Amino acid sequence: MARLQVLNLDRDASVVLQKHMTIQQQLAQLPSVDECLKSSYGKKWLASYARKTVLRAIREVIDSKRKEILNGAAPDISIDAISRCIETAVKKHSAYKLRPLINATGVVIHTNLGRSILSAVAIEHMMVTAGSYSNLEYDLSTGKRGRRYSNIRDIIKELTGAEDAVVVNNNAAAVLICLDTFAKGREVIVSRGELVEIGGSFRIPEVMKASGAILREVGTTNKTHFADYENALCGNTALLLKVHQSNYRVIGFTEEVPVEKLMKLGREYGIPVMDDLGSGCMIDLKKYGVPGEPTVQEVVRTGADVVTFSGDKLLGGPQAGIIVGKEKLIQKIQKNPLLRAMRIDKMTLASLEATFMQYLDEEKALREIPALRMMTEPVEIIRKRAKKIYALLKKDISGAAQTEVVPDQSQAGGGSLPEINFPTFAVSVKPDNISVNELEKRLRLGDIPVIARIKGNALLIDARTVQDGEVKDLVRCVSTALGLSRDDGTISNIKIINAKN
Ligand SMILES: *Cc1c(COP(=O)(O)O)cnc(C)c1O
Repeated sequence: MARLQVLNLDRDASVVLQKHMTIQQQLAQLPSVDECLKSSYGKKWLASYARKTVLRAIREVIDSKRKEILNGAAPDISIDAISRCIETAVKKHSAYKLRPLINATGVVIHTNLGRSILSAVAIEHMMVTAGSYSNLEYDLSTGKRGRRYSNIRDIIKELTGAEDAVVVNNNAAAVLICLDTFAKGREVIVSRGELVEIGGSFRIPEVMKASGAILREVGTTNKTHFADYENALCGNTALLLKVHQSNYRVIGFTEEVPVEKLMKLGREYGIPVMDDLGSGCMIDLKKYGVPGEPTVQEVVRTGADVVTFSGDKLLGGPQAGIIVGKEKLIQKIQKNPLLRAMRIDKMTLASLEATFMQYLDEEKALREIPALRMMTEPVEIIRKRAKKIYALLKKDISGAAQTEVVPDQSQAGGGSLPEINFPTFAVSVKPDNISVNELEKRLRLGDIPVIARIKGNALLIDARTVQDGEVKDLVRCVSTALGLSRDDGTISNIKIINAKN
């Protein structure tokens, strides 16, 4: 019995010993960092990538091979195989983390995907301004210090009809600085139905608290009457605030007080009225089959004292918060020290100026500002794009997926027009050999990520938000994801934003 045990122990030990030697041999064969660097591959990498990145990639790959060997695997550790891994790692570490992608969700103002994409002229004005000195805060006529906001004030006044305008980082900042300027330590009356949360972090009651203003809720969730506002007025009332419901609607028995009526109350008691519009639509989209959003001009015409809206929602420009209204009030904001902390940079100012200037010609704005174009694009044109994607795909992926063009609905997004479904066309892809979730994941993780939505057992590629210039890349991405064409690892130079027909 005892003898047998010893024998067994011996045998185990020798197996371990044999394996151990193999591991040692393999480890000895692993190239050193220096060998990798000095190889012909190494020289190539150093010529095109940062030394730090190359070193990091080499160390990472050698380390992971060492671990594989120690775990008992026998990975290919030829210099060619190792170099391939290093090359992939170098490329990965050299790529930007913030990357362009293809939005196939159909959501035009997709907050997670960067909201509005800029028009070609906005990009151009931004690039020129970024790369040269400018009169950002310099008055060319006097040769003295100028104001950052005066470059953009006139065009906003002209387009909106407002007496004055100022611009900050985003609309959340716009609301905050208005509350801080007009209502710190005093009461602001808001309807319960308008205490919205937008994008998970902008919540009216919290912004109110942060500004030091005191929220005075009136009415109920579905109905707020004129008298509710009137009864809430007191000596400490600083502001009547109306907030656009943006991303939700109450349907059924509802009542809200239009800003015109609030104006009457405000005038009577000498209290300013503010309207936080959120989206900031500058064109009456009803004419183009998109009802539901009041325009900035309409609200300014009611006489509202202060109106705030976003730069990157329906306006179709860069992230910004635009404040327009009565000169006396805007001047007060100009004197608030918070403005310095919320000021917009020159690139935003440039792209915003160019975007606003496009509105001087409404038809041109609709054609050239991507958010507006996608929102108002005739469904026949979307169908055509879907058919084109379908035709190219069908050639590439037959045998790996079933595909067809299907009608569907897209959404405006960005807290705009939540109740409106825009008829659209999508390319439906049902993979034969992998699950639809797997396809969605592979597309998301591809060299150009494609973000699409799953409906039932199909992946829907909504042609509304796919730019014409992206179609070829999109098709290549889908066939790669289905395992049909080998990803060569090159990052395509797609010009996502500037795509023209
Ligand atoms: C979107 C929105 C905001 C926040 O605007 P940002 O530009 O995202 O900061 C504030 N109020 C309303 C009503 C909105 O719709």
